[in-house]
Amino acid sequence: MGGDVGRVQAVSPSPRQPDRLQLVLMSFSHAKPQTRWPAYRHIVFDCDATLSAVEGIDSLAVDDDTRTEIAALTDAAMSGEASLDDVYAERLSALQPSRDAVRNVRDTYRRTAVEGAAEVIATLRELGHEVYVVSGGLAEPVREFAVHLGVAPENVHAVEAIHDQLSGQWWGAGTGSGQQYSGHVSSELTTDDGKAAVVGRLLSGRQGGSMMVGDGLTDLAARRVVDIFVGFGGVSSRPVVAEAADVYIAADSLYAVLPLAAGTAGRAVLERDGYTETFDVGCRQARAGLVKFNDSTNKQRFFEAFGLLEEATDDHP
Ligand SMILES: [Mg+2]
Repeated sequence: MGGDVGRVQAVSPSPRQPDRLQLVLMSFSHAKPQTRWPAYRHIVFDCDATLSAVEGIDSLAVDDDTRTEIAALTDAAMSGEASLDDVYAERLSALQPSRDAVRNVRDTYRRTAVEGAAEVIATLRELGHEVYVVSGGLAEPVREFAVHLGVAPENVHAVEAIHDQLSGQWWGAGTGSGQQYSGHVSSELTTDDGKAAVVGRLLSGRQGGSMMVGDGLTDLAARRVVDIFVGFGGVSSRPVVAEAADVYIAADSLYAVLPLAAGTAGRAVLERDGYTETFDVGCRQARAGLVKFNDSTNKQRFFEAFGLLEEATDDHP
C-alpha cells in the first residue's frame, strides 16, 4: 500500500497573480486534503464460504452424520489444522458423489449466494475491473455459479474432475461402478499453497493492482501474490485469517468489497452515472465498524477518502 495519505491537491500556478480575496477563497477550497483510495483492477474471489454461504463439497453429504464428519475435515483444512491435499482425498472418497450430485451443487451455490455478491461483481465489471474466481471446489458447479454471478468463464479456476461418459468413471478412478467418484482428482488447487500459485500465475504480467477476497487459509496464502488481501468472515469467521488480513469484512454480505476495490475513482464514475447505492452500503458497513483494517494508516485513508470520519464519530461516540 502506497503512502500518499493526506496528499493535498496541488494548486495550479495562475498566469496572473491572484488578489488577496482570491487567495483567501483558494485556501478555503483547498482546505480539505484530497485523500484517495486506490482502485484494484484485478479482483480474485474465493467461492466456498465467500461468494456462497456453503462449502460445496460438504453439501454433497447425504445424511447428517456424514455432513458433520465432512464439515469438520473442511474446517480443519481451512483453519490450517490439516493439509488440504489429505482432506480433499478423504472427503471425496467418503462421499463418493455421483456426477448428478456434483452438478446439483451449482443449485446449492445459487440458493446460498452471499448477499451483495452479484451486485458487487456486476458493478466492478461495469467499472472495467477484471473479476476472477479461484476455488478449491469442483470446477463444474463453481464455474456455472460464477458465470451466473457475472464472471467470465475463462476467469474461473477450480478443481477439474473429468468424468468419462463411456465408462461412467471419474477421471483418476481406480475401481468403482456407475457414475461414482472413485479416485483422487489431481489438481494444484487441492494443496495448501496451490491457490497462491494459481493466483500468482493468473496475475503475472497484468497491469494494475490486485485484491484477493476469501475466508480460508488457502486464500490467505495468496496474500503474498496480491497487493491487498481482504478476509471475509461473513460465513466462516477464522481468527487466524482476521488477524493476518490487510482488511477483514465482518459483515455477512460482500458490499464492502466495492469501495475497497473500486476506490475514489470508481466512486466518481458511479456518482456521475447515478449508481452509488451498492457502493454506499459498503461504506455504511465500514462506518458501522464491520470492516477492520490491520493498518491504522489504511483505515484513516479509507475513511477520509469516502468521507466517513465525522459520521463514524457520530455513530460511535
Ligand atoms: Mg472458502
